[in-house]
Amino acid sequence: MSDQYYGRTKPPRKKSGARIVLFLFLFLGLVALGFFSFTQYMAIISLQNNLESLEDKLWQVEQENKDLQYKFDEIYEENEKLREENTMLRSSVVINNGNRKTNKVAITIDDGAGSDLMHRTLDYLKAHNVRATLFPIGYWVEREPEVWQRAVAEGHELGNHTQNHTFLSSVSDERVRSELSEWQESVNEALGFEYHTYFFRPPGMDGFTSPGSTQAKRLQEIVADKGMFTILWDVELVYALRNEVATPERITRHVLDNARGGSIVLLHFTPNDIAALPDIINGLRARGLEPCSLRELLLADPEA
Ligand SMILES: [Zn+2]
Repeated sequence: MSDQYYGRTKPPRKKSGARIVLFLFLFLGLVALGFFSFTQYMAIISLQNNLESLEDKLWQVEQENKDLQYKFDEIYEENEKLREENTMLRSSVVINNGNRKTNKVAITIDDGAGSDLMHRTLDYLKAHNVRATLFPIGYWVEREPEVWQRAVAEGHELGNHTQNHTFLSSVSDERVRSELSEWQESVNEALGFEYHTYFFRPPGMDGFTSPGSTQAKRLQEIVADKGMFTILWDVELVYALRNEVATPERITRHVLDNARGGSIVLLHFTPNDIAALPDIINGLRARGLEPCSLRELLLADPEA
C-alpha cells in the first residue's frame, strides 16, 4: 500500500521537475522571442531613422538643385543678353581701318585664283615675312584646297567672302545665311578642321555702299549673328584706278600714296596686283609702316 502510496506521491514530484524544465524552456523561449522582437524593433527604428535622414538629404539635394537651376537660368539669361549686345555691337560696326596710332597696315587680298598665282602670292608673302588676310570665295577654296591649307599653315588668316561671290543686297536673308555657311563648310572641308573667322567682306561691296542704310543694317545683322565683323577698306584700286591702266607700278604708287598707319589695303588675286605686292611691302616698310594681317592690325597696341 505504502508502495502504492509512495508510488502515487512520487510522480507529482517528478512531474514538477519536468514542469520546471518545461517552464524554463518556455521562459527562455519567451526571452529569446522578446529579444528577437526587440532587435527587430530596434532594426525598424534605425531603418526609419535612416529613411528620415535620406529624406532630409533628398530634400537638401532638391533645394540645391533648385538653387543651381535658378543660377543656371540667371547665367543663361545674362549670356543671352550679352550675345544680343555683342550682335548689336558687331552689327553697328563696319570696319574701314584700324587704329590710326599704329604703324601697321593690313594687307587683304580677295577672291582667289588658280594655284600658280596663289603659290606665287604665298611665296612673296613668305619671302618678306608678312602675314596677310585672304578673303577667298568658297568656290576657289573647294577647287584649290591645298593652296589654302598652305596659306593657313604659313600664318595667313581667311575671311568669309561668300561661297559664290553673290551680290547680297538682292537676295533673301536665308540665301545670305547659306552663302556664309557654305563658305564655312568649304573652308572646314579644305582645311580638315573647324576654322573660325571674325571677318566678313561683302562681294563687290554690294549692300554696303551706303553706310547705315536699311540694306546695310539687314546684312550686318546677319553677319554679326554669325559672329563676324564686316570688313571694308580705306585703300583700294578697282574704283580708284578705273580710268587708268592699272600696271603694277601704278598700283604700287597708288597704295603707297594712300596707305597710312591703321590702313586696310584691298588687293585682288590678279596678276598685276600680285606683281605689285613685293614693291608695296618694301615701299610701306621704307615709309615706316608695317604690313600685317587684320588680326594683327585690329589687336595692335595703339602706341606700338
Ligand atoms: Zn570679291
